[in-house]
Parts: sequence; C-alpha cells; structure tokens
Amino acid sequence: MLKGFLNLLLPRVCLLCSGIVEGEGLCEKCLDSIRLIKSPRCRCCGMPFISQEAEDHLCGTCIKKRRPFSIARSIGIYEGVLLEAVQRLKYNGKTSLARPLAKLMTKEFSMNNYNLIVPVPLHKTRLKERGFNQSLLLARELSKLYNLPIDYLNLRKIRATDPQVNLKGKERIENMKGAFAVKNGAGFKNKKILLIDDVYTTGATVTECSKVLKKAGAKTIDVLTLARVVNM
Ligand SMILES: [Zn+2]
Ligand SMILES: [Zn+2]
Repeated sequence: MLKGFLNLLLPRVCLLCSGIVEGEGLCEKCLDSIRLIKSPRCRCCGMPFISQEAEDHLCGTCIKKRRPFSIARSIGIYEGVLLEAVQRLKYNGKTSLARPLAKLMTKEFSMNNYNLIVPVPLHKTRLKERGFNQSLLLARELSKLYNLPIDYLNLRKIRATDPQVNLKGKERIENMKGAFAVKNGAGFKNKKILLIDDVYTTGATVTECSKVLKKAGAKTIDVLTLARVVNM
C-alpha cells in the first residue's frame, strides 16, 4: 500500500532521459526513437536488407557458411537510445534497465516453444570486474516473462578473450575459438534452446556458443539479442 501511495506522489521517470513515464522503465519518446529491425532480413542471421522490396532470404555470409544456430534475431539497431541503454546497463551498472529492455524483446519477438533459455556467459575475470552479467539479467527477465526455465551454469566461458570491439570479422572468429565449454551437458540434450546476448556484431560469440551447445546434444538453437550492429 505504501508503494502505491508513493507512486501517486512521485512521478515515475524514464531510466534514460528522466522524462515522465506512464508505466515504468522507458518513456514513449525513447522507445519510439529505437529503429526496430523488421523484414526484409536474412532468414538465418537476421541481418536487415537495405532494399525494402526484397523478401526474407539468406545473406551472402549465411549462404557461404552454414551457421550452427537456426535463426538469430535482434530487436533494434545498436545506435542512439538502444546503444545508450546497453552501455548504461553494462558499464554504469544500471541494472534496473534489464526489465524494460527484456519487455521490449518479448514485444518484438515471437516465441517458438523453446525448452530452455541460456545466456551468453562472461569469463570469471570479467564477471568480477563488472559484478554481473548483462546477458544473464536479460535472460532472467525473459525466463520470468515467458515462464521458461533458464540454465546459466552449464555453458561456461573458459578463456578470457580480447575485447571484440578492436577486432575485425575474421579475428573475432579466431578470438572466440575454444572460449566456451559445456560443464554438464545433460540439461541441453534434445532441447530447443533460446540463446540470449545483449549485442550481435558479427555473430562470432553466439556462433561459438551454439557450436558447443550443439555438441552437447541441443536439438536447435535460436539466438535473440537486444541490439545489432548494422552498417547502414
Ligand atoms: Zn526517455
Ligand atoms: Zn545471414
């Protein structure tokens, strides 16, 4: 009751711009400014196509090399409000952003009877530095919203990698090789897994994670990230 009373007295503010919010989290203005990724896009990796005429089809990269995941989808382009939100969540420890961002993910992604949600793990040294794993925060909210089990213990990052930011496509793939391992794979056997990360850049991270999950016996892996780096 006290909480309800306080809510009446204190106007809720947007976690990003401090504008007034109707519900909680992000204001309409911030949400409206996010460039959502829609069709036409790559049927597999979800890369948006520039031409608005085309239908969904495979992009050049996905034709050349089969991906270990079935589909990858991202909610919006990694710029503006979305970039700021991810950076505040990750580097400024604004963990209260996880819930509204996960809500945005559920609004823009149709679930496909998954058995299990798995977040991309952080290496323990990074985890110590940051104190939390932003992908786990998002995955945990999604597991609540979708009422799905989550496993954040059995996919491990066993090797610290150089920050991907400074690397180009091929180097990113090399950098991630052998960086992940499955601890106990029994829970992954024959499961339809939804793999969660905050940002998709070249897909090197989620590709490597999907490979080890497949090896552990996962039936299918779909990837969902909040944002995607797009050069357009
Ligand atoms: Zn706002
Ligand atoms: Zn593709």
